[in-house]
Amino acid sequence: MRSGSIARSRFLLAGCFWLATAAGAIAQPQRLALVGGMLLDGYQVPPLHHAAVLVEGDRIVAVGRAAELEIPADTEVVDTRGRVMLPGLIDLHAHLAVLGHGEYGRWFSWLDEEGVDVEDVMEISARQLLLAGVTTAVDLGAPLEASLAVRDRIARGEVAGARMLMAGPWITRRVSFWPENYQIGVSSPEEASAAVERLADAGVDVIKAWVGLTREDYQAIADTANRRGLRVHAHVYAPDDVRNALEAGIHVLTHAGSAGTPPYEPDLVRDIVVAGRPVVITGAHRVWVFPATLDFPERLQDPRLRQDLPPAMYEELQRSFTDFHRLPYFQTTDRQMFFGDASLGQWIEAGAVMGMGTDSGTPLNFHTEALWREIKAHVDLGMEPLDAIAAATRIGARILGMQADLGTVEPGKLADILVVDGDPRFDITALARPVLVVKDGRVHQR
Ligand SMILES: [Zn+2]
Repeated sequence: MRSGSIARSRFLLAGCFWLATAAGAIAQPQRLALVGGMLLDGYQVPPLHHAAVLVEGDRIVAVGRAAELEIPADTEVVDTRGRVMLPGLIDLHAHLAVLGHGEYGRWFSWLDEEGVDVEDVMEISARQLLLAGVTTAVDLGAPLEASLAVRDRIARGEVAGARMLMAGPWITRRVSFWPENYQIGVSSPEEASAAVERLADAGVDVIKAWVGLTREDYQAIADTANRRGLRVHAHVYAPDDVRNALEAGIHVLTHAGSAGTPPYEPDLVRDIVVAGRPVVITGAHRVWVFPATLDFPERLQDPRLRQDLPPAMYEELQRSFTDFHRLPYFQTTDRQMFFGDASLGQWIEAGAVMGMGTDSGTPLNFHTEALWREIKAHVDLGMEPLDAIAAATRIGARILGMQADLGTVEPGKLADILVVDGDPRFDITALARPVLVVKDGRVHQR
């Protein structure tokens, strides 16, 4: 992908997708039935055994026992006997513009040098998410035009990918070393409010509030977002930021507690629980990625990465993994791990409303596995598997305000259904083994 091929790189990547899509997706049937497997519908109730789910177009129209459900003659039937069906998963915090490269600075300059269009990267990421069973994801920080273009291409079915909700650039008082078009720097509540208006006018789905923001900034962002019908996800760690975001009515507290600091004061945790304010901790990449990679560095050469990425991109990722323990990103991982259990545990014990988000795409945190790892981290710390699955489905949909369309397998909902090998109630790693993924009534598989 050096100079001569720069102009073609977008075309070539797009070509890859069409091949992959042609191989991975079965043409949309008028009617689809998934028949015979056990159904976990997204509620915390016992499963429906030997179930059938009937889909027409992009919607679920009937759910029942396979023996009792009438399946019209012209229906494409997919045998799910011996498998488990559940709602498609929802990742509330992903970054499509990165896909696990070790170092952000190097990644963005590599994209520039090679002339790679960030939209191509975002489409690879969205497809990885989909094939990992993530049918809906929220991107919390990427260039505005690219975000909307990728979201819309996926929505039109032109590329296979998770249904995306896009934040576009985040709003911050401290502009970081990420490229300029990933962030909107503000220095007053008025500017923060104007930034929300601008993003809303452009057509984003959510607002991401990043760092250095005052209580008044959060208030301005939340008020403007409410007026525009958008929800705000705030990146908060410091207790004061969490308190300010909570009291300003910020809708989702993301990362809270996972950055290597001791658990919060009980008052703060209790107030969040009482308010029913959702917490999305993005914990697994803080506590799992580094030790797992020390133990099994071979995970970095996961064949799925080689399969999904153009060769030059794969090689650049591999280069970035050399001596990964020296990467700036991991210099505070020891503190994150030291406090990891307590930080995540405080929300589980207190009974907070929790959604699942992964920060997937951050260094060594691949879209191919981030969400089931996050769910497993919650289960390992005492969350009931059914509760963890609900957090990643039904509750995630509620957090997005999309519960009328997403999050459960029941008539009237969009047909987003994951079929896995094994019962995740007893072995949550079954979520790592998607047999097929249905999104909007279309079947996808790796
Ligand atoms: Zn993030």
